[in-house]
Formats: sequence, structure tokens, C-alpha cells
Amino acid sequence: MKYNDNYDQIFLERIKNKSTTNDKNCMLLHTTLVGGGYSQCSYRGKKSYTHRKIFEIINKITIPNNLFIDHLCRNRNCCNPKHLEIVTNQENVRRGVLGIKNRAKTHCPQGHEYTYENTYLVPTTFTKKRYCRMCRRIRSQKRYHLGRIWVKNNKDKVREYKKRYRIKMKRLKELAV
Ligand SMILES: [Zn+2]
Ligand SMILES: [Zn+2]
Repeated sequence: MKYNDNYDQIFLERIKNKSTTNDKNCMLLHTTLVGGGYSQCSYRGKKSYTHRKIFEIINKITIPNNLFIDHLCRNRNCCNPKHLEIVTNQENVRRGVLGIKNRAKTHCPQGHEYTYENTYLVPTTFTKKRYCRMCRRIRSQKRYHLGRIWVKNNKDKVREYKKRYRIKMKRLKELAV
């Protein structure tokens, strides 16, 4: 398909003016959203999904009907071309299901419950990942105990380190005087 650059320019400008950018650089349309939370637009008098049309314009292609545009950011009304990726429908469904499955998990892999107190969130590129505090506590206790065992089995080395440390501190004190 051949595009008229000027029309596209105006079209992109129009979409930009109708959207707000959030802290993750999502361009969120504040037009009425259609079924599924997608936004629609009119392009050359024809109705189209906005994100799909933008993907076509930016990449100068026509998306075949059996291919879909996936939102990597999971915001269906986002029109930032960098957040859009072309996928087959199957892949799209699988990704969506995977996300729902992960959100539906109530316990960590070790079986501790994801309660408010027991969960901490780490931001990833597009979302936040849940982590279990109990597991973190167990990991740090393990490290502590391994450290204790090492000290027990390496008494000579520990003595040597302590001696070196004392000498170092003594020198520093002398320098400070
Ligand atoms: Zn986005
Ligand atoms: Zn856990």
C-alpha cells in the first residue's frame, strides 16, 4: 500500500493530541474505547483500530488479517509504536493467558502465601513482579549460617584477618594524630 506522507503526518499528529503519555511512555488515547479496551480511529474515512493503523503507518506495511498486534505494555489503548509487536493470534492468546495465570497464583513456588505483608514488588520493564518475603528471609538466614560454618572451619584465616585489621586500624590512628 502506498501512503500519502502528508495525510499520515496529520493523522499521527491528531492521535498524539488525543493521547496522554504516562511514566512508562505509553501513549494512552482518551477517545471512547471499543470492546476489549482498544481505541478506534477514522483513517481516510474508514474505521480502524488506532494501534493497528499506527503500526502500519510507522512500519509502512499492511498487516495481514491473520496477524495481530500485541501490546508489550499490556495497555490495550496504548499507541506508542515501540510498545507494539506483530504476533500470530495464538501467540497473543498464550501471552495473555500466561499473564493471567501468574496473577492468579496465590502462593510462591515454595508454598508461602502472597499476602500483603509477605509480598514485595520489583518493577520490570512493563509490569511489577511479585516476590515472597519469607523466601528472602530464609535465603539470608542460609547465607548467615553458611558464613558461621565457614568461620568455624577457617579459624586460622579469621585470626589472620583480625590481626591484619587491628594493624590497619592502629596505623590509621597513628596517622590521625
Ligand atoms: Zn504502552
Ligand atoms: Zn516463599
